[in-house]
Amino acid sequence: MTSVDMGIPVVRHRADDVSDRPDVPELLDRFGRVARDLRVSLTEKCSLRCTYCMPAEGLPEIPRAKLLTTDEIVRLVRVATGRLGVHEVRFTGGEPLMRRDLEDILAGCARETPGLPMALTTNGVGLEHRARALAGAGLTRVNISLDTLDREHFARLTRRDRLGSVLAGIRAAAAAGFARIKVNAVLMPETLAGAADLLEWCLAEGVELRFIEQMPLDADHTWARARMVSAEALLDVLGQRFTLTETEREDPSAPAERWFVDGGPATVGIIASVTRSFCADCDRTRLTAEGTVRSCLFSDRETDLRAALRGGASDDELAALWRGAMWNKWAGHGMDAADFAPPQRSMGAIGG
Ligand code: SAM
Ligand code: SF4
Repeated sequence: MTSVDMGIPVVRHRADDVSDRPDVPELLDRFGRVARDLRVSLTEKCSLRCTYCMPAEGLPEIPRAKLLTTDEIVRLVRVATGRLGVHEVRFTGGEPLMRRDLEDILAGCARETPGLPMALTTNGVGLEHRARALAGAGLTRVNISLDTLDREHFARLTRRDRLGSVLAGIRAAAAAGFARIKVNAVLMPETLAGAADLLEWCLAEGVELRFIEQMPLDADHTWARARMVSAEALLDVLGQRFTLTETEREDPSAPAERWFVDGGPATVGIIASVTRSFCADCDRTRLTAEGTVRSCLFSDRETDLRAALRGGASDDELAALWRGAMWNKWAGHGMDAADFAPPQRSMGAIGG
């Protein structure tokens, strides 16, 4: 069944083929991977317009009636943790801080699943004013996106002059007591020259910097492999100022390769999703803001839990639909294939 949401066609499946699936509760796929890390997109709205993610005018608005409500999100997270073996949830978007009920969502999930690690991926704009309330609501970890310390480059890349607010947000997160704050920087040709300055700043602030290779997930479809900055090019640039010593990944499914900086203990990470794909160890499952399950960033197949939920499905029925969606997860993103086509939805519309 194909429908049009947010101006793009999305393939939706009422039920996936699970005839050959073993009867296990976890989110197992045909390649033996088990998804335990849930990413929940809360909105398509954003305070920035990063060129590698959003169109200049922003994404088409999701009608309010199609957006998952606070209670629906809390319920689906409870189904994931209680029935499907999900260990950790990360809220993302769009920009999750654009949702006024973010604290309520966190508090609801903490109430339903005590002890659940809950993380946030945010651009940091306005975080300054909410960091304490988020910590109080049960948020355990924060990743903040920041590509450059150069105000002009920042404004050009994000199409908004909000660098000051992001820096204030990072400091507010530290003041609110979040441990191990991570900063994510997408590797772009315009920001490569400033990468060492960004690392120096993060070291001084006591936050952990991770660079991410740009993926073909921009709404404008301008990504080109030839223009992409690789992990290798970054290591060359950082190596001119720092001594980098490769260290182990935190766990096999952690996407970042890590290097000690000048002997450690501080590290810098690189998520080389394009040149050193980690699909074979992927343990992610994704819920879009409209309540569809996506098994992979790069697959347009989506399973509609919102319709099932609003149609009166029980928790067991929702769990069964979710298992079916994940059973059919692809082996990998396929970026190296000659016939690779980027997904219809951009990063901000899926939830990064
Ligand atoms: N708005 C929040 C933020 O920027 O952190 C959360 C959503 S954003 C889509 C999640 C992460 O995806 C950010 O760290 C962002 O830099 C990254 N991202 C967006 N587009 C990307 C792309 N084309 N390739 C790689 N990473 C991307
Ligand atoms: Fe917004 Fe995050 Fe996408 Fe930038 S990367 S446009 S901040 S959703």
